[in-house]
Amino acid sequence: MDALIYNLKLEPLTCPTCGATFAVAQALLDQRRRDGRRFCCPAGHRLYFPPNAAAGNPTEVRQLKRRLVRALHDAEQAEAHAQDLQRPHTEAEEHTAKAR
Ligand SMILES: [Zn+2]
Repeated sequence: MDALIYNLKLEPLTCPTCGATFAVAQALLDQRRRDGRRFCCPAGHRLYFPPNAAAGNPTEVRQLKRRLVRALHDAEQAEAHAQDLQRPHTEAEEHTAKAR
């Protein structure tokens, strides 16, 4: 049986939302640090690095990264809550909404 052997550098990350620790290919994370695009933790929380996360004080960068990810999560929760509030919940509310 033939084996496929290759090197893959993995970088550990901890999701600031759920605390899950997981590993991602370092090349992919470097790419995400450069392009600022989003990626997900295994539980589906959307994460991203601010565009210039590779520069600056590492501790400050980590703190800012955590705050940004948390703010993004809070914004998603608020958006979902706002959509939920706009949806009629009871028959009476639905009737009132239709009457408008
Ligand atoms: Zn998570």
